Amino acid sequence: MNTVDLRSDTVTQPTPAMREAMMAAPLGDDVFGDDPSVNALQEKIAALTGKEAALFMSSGTQSNLCGMMAHCGRGDEYIVGQNAHTYRYEGGGAAVLGSIQPQPLAQDPQGLMNPSDVRAAIKPDDPHFARTRLLCLENTWNGHPMPAAYLDEMAELARGHGLALHLDGARVFNAAVADAGPGGDVVAALRAITGRFDSVSVCFSKGLGAPVGSALCGPRELIERARRWRKMVGGGLRQAGLLAAAASHALDHHVNRLADDHALAQRLAQGLAAIEGLAVRSAQTNIVFVDVANGRGPDLLAHLERQGVLATGLIGLRFVTHLGVDVAGIDRALAAVRGFFDQAPSGQAPRPSGAAVY
Ligand SMILES: *Cc1c(COP(=O)(O)O)cnc(C)c1O
Repeated sequence: MNTVDLRSDTVTQPTPAMREAMMAAPLGDDVFGDDPSVNALQEKIAALTGKEAALFMSSGTQSNLCGMMAHCGRGDEYIVGQNAHTYRYEGGGAAVLGSIQPQPLAQDPQGLMNPSDVRAAIKPDDPHFARTRLLCLENTWNGHPMPAAYLDEMAELARGHGLALHLDGARVFNAAVADAGPGGDVVAALRAITGRFDSVSVCFSKGLGAPVGSALCGPRELIERARRWRKMVGGGLRQAGLLAAAASHALDHHVNRLADDHALAQRLAQGLAAIEGLAVRSAQTNIVFVDVANGRGPDLLAHLERQGVLATGLIGLRFVTHLGVDVAGIDRALAAVRGFFDQAPSGQAPRPSGAAVY
């Protein structure tokens, strides 16, 4: 029985066509700047996001780090959501490696910061304070596309205070597909998002289905600064065109199909919402969060795993759809969840103490 792996959209395998594109890619040494496949990818993603230049990166973490270090120097500060990836899930790299002070702020359940909190956090020019330089947003956030009005407000706020604006757009293509709606212009929706930001980091290895890689997009001068940091953190890859070709293939073939992932997430969310004991939190793009009553989340996760259905449980149960799952897989996941709640609770083995934090 195949596993239905809904832990993340990072678990996809390259499709046969993607592997063919990788095999056929012309290669060079990218540290010398002469890998044609890397250069083609960088031009493609820069054009798509409407930026002057782009730089292929090993990971989203590396891309955000080099972006933040290109924007900020030692003793500068970036404002960021308390639960944002760049603050919470990247090992504190901006502070550790960049000497950039984070100023984390509370976010509402949709991931939005309060503009008045942001305004109040911007430090005056005074030697007591770090220099506030950068505002960092994330779209999608936990599967939520950011509302246009919020992005506008934040962009205006940043501009009004001389702050640069960086987007952690690991899943910005999911946001663009959701914003565009059925039959809409995804590239126009993408540029409507990215146009508000000075720099944007995009992941190819999430819903787009490439095995490795991200890109930092922005003004040429910023990208050249980021290139120095990328070399320093070990991201100067040589015949990286092998990987860039996969990302290029993903941009050509896997963008519009993200709508399929969103539809699968909807199907899953609707099925889960009908099950007593579960509260579904979000399913606007490809991520579904579920709260499980009575602290039974870890038991449900373990049950699912025994049924060959994988999810994660860091902040509520999380299911992520991607090109490696189909309707049958979603229906199997739903059946496995129903099976858990159909069992008599007394039939459950007691939960061992000291198990994973959840
Ligand atoms: C996945 C992700 C990243 C980057 O992750 P890597 O695993 O380093 O590629 C950054 N931001 C968000 C929101 C992400 O989901």
